[in-house]
Amino acid sequence: MDETTAEVAIVGGGFAGGALAVRLARAGLSVTVLEQSAEYRDRVRGEYMPPWGCAELNRSGLLDVVLRAEGTMAARSVPYGDSMAPDVAEAAALDTSVLVPGAAGMLNLSHPGACRELMDVASSAGAEVVRGVRRVQVTAGPQPAVSYEHDLGERIVHARMVVGADGRNSTVRRQLGIPLAATGPRTFAVGLLVDGLTGWPASTNSIGTCEDVVFAVFPRRNSCARIYLFWDPRAPRRFAGSGAGDRAVQRLATLTCFPDAVTFQHARPRPGWASFPMEDTWSETPYVPGAVLIGDAAGCSDPIAGQGLTVAIRDARLVGDALLGERSRGPGTFEPYAVERAERMRRLRATAEAITRLRADFTPDGRRRRTAALARFAADPRARLPIAAALIGPDALPPEAFTRAAADRMLALP
Ligand SMILES: Cc1cc2nc3c(=O)[nH]c(=O)nc-3n(C[C@H](O)[C@H](O)[C@H](O)COP(=O)(O)OP(=O)(O)OC[C@H]3O[C@@H](n4cnc5c(N)ncnc54)[C@H](O)[C@@H]3O)c2cc1C
Repeated sequence: MDETTAEVAIVGGGFAGGALAVRLARAGLSVTVLEQSAEYRDRVRGEYMPPWGCAELNRSGLLDVVLRAEGTMAARSVPYGDSMAPDVAEAAALDTSVLVPGAAGMLNLSHPGACRELMDVASSAGAEVVRGVRRVQVTAGPQPAVSYEHDLGERIVHARMVVGADGRNSTVRRQLGIPLAATGPRTFAVGLLVDGLTGWPASTNSIGTCEDVVFAVFPRRNSCARIYLFWDPRAPRRFAGSGAGDRAVQRLATLTCFPDAVTFQHARPRPGWASFPMEDTWSETPYVPGAVLIGDAAGCSDPIAGQGLTVAIRDARLVGDALLGERSRGPGTFEPYAVERAERMRRLRATAEAITRLRADFTPDGRRRRTAALARFAADPRARLPIAAALIGPDALPPEAFTRAAADRMLALP
């Protein structure tokens, strides 16, 4: 078996692993990234970042890198949906470029493109990137190591620290025996890329509810858009399996909440759509001696809130700081990260719960509450308090924003 050494071995070269590899390699640490895919393909992951995510990217020196991945800033958020006519929704558009200092709004990007860019930058900064790894086996404790198979044979990397950044179904987490808590699915969602979406205003994102679906539309270049549709979890396979992409586009084409100029009639789904249960998961202590988890491996935010990429960037920054800091050889190295992450994810769970109650209650009562809430949002921005963290970040709000009582008030009938 070939043996190599690195100060840090990162399993998983996605958004979280890529961001951490850039941070550490730029600071001069020797880093090995082990990524299972031979090349990045669309696996239907996040392609939207809120303003606080752009601020996080800026703070990590990664905004330029991610912008190269078909990045497009979208400042306008239009609340299309069955609670208001399209022209009223457009008049109620939120200008997201003024919400967070240093963030020009929301960012739409290509996920595989961003992973590629991050890995290229990490590699140029000196990281060793190994693609196409299989059968990763992690050893934690005083002598951390990762063994794996590769076309060139079996190898082992000895490292000062192993980082698990291998996503929601993390093998590293399982091997380390780190428990994961879960809310259980609140909704199901299908994600797809569509071409030929005509009339959609450029630089305008929209998340809304119409009849029995929540939609999210994030435009990219050349009439292409990333679309997510969310629905009642009691019918988990509604937009799953073969033909689901066409069914999703047909559903969008029959919704009446968009302006006449927008038409999904000629939109075509690209192959590769996928559906998932939408839930939050979390690990209270995402580390053991010799190994730490970041990104979805440490627990993921319900994608209905659109936070996962930003969470990954923050995790990479905090774990990067800990590894580069003076205390990085002591047992308390990751304690501040774990404490901050636990509270951050608790707050984002409350936000996802409030968003789901607002958007994905498809009953007549739910619709009445939604209509009342959206009218209040237009009159008073403070009425958004329980969902505002999704745009401006969980640290920017007082603790009461994350209580059940605040969400009840947001959804009260007049
Ligand atoms: C349908 C859907 C919609 C979403 N929408 C949004 C959104 O709009 N905005 C947002 O911010 N977030 C969104 N998210 C969440 C976001 O995609 C994730 O939070 C984010 O991708 C997490 O990054 P990661 O690097 O931790 O994990 P991943 O992106 O899953 O990357 C993990 C990497 O590890 C590699 N890997 C896996 N197993 C192994 C192994 N055993 N060995 C080596 N390598 C391995 C994978 O190939 C991959 O490259 C969405 C998620 C879903 C499912």
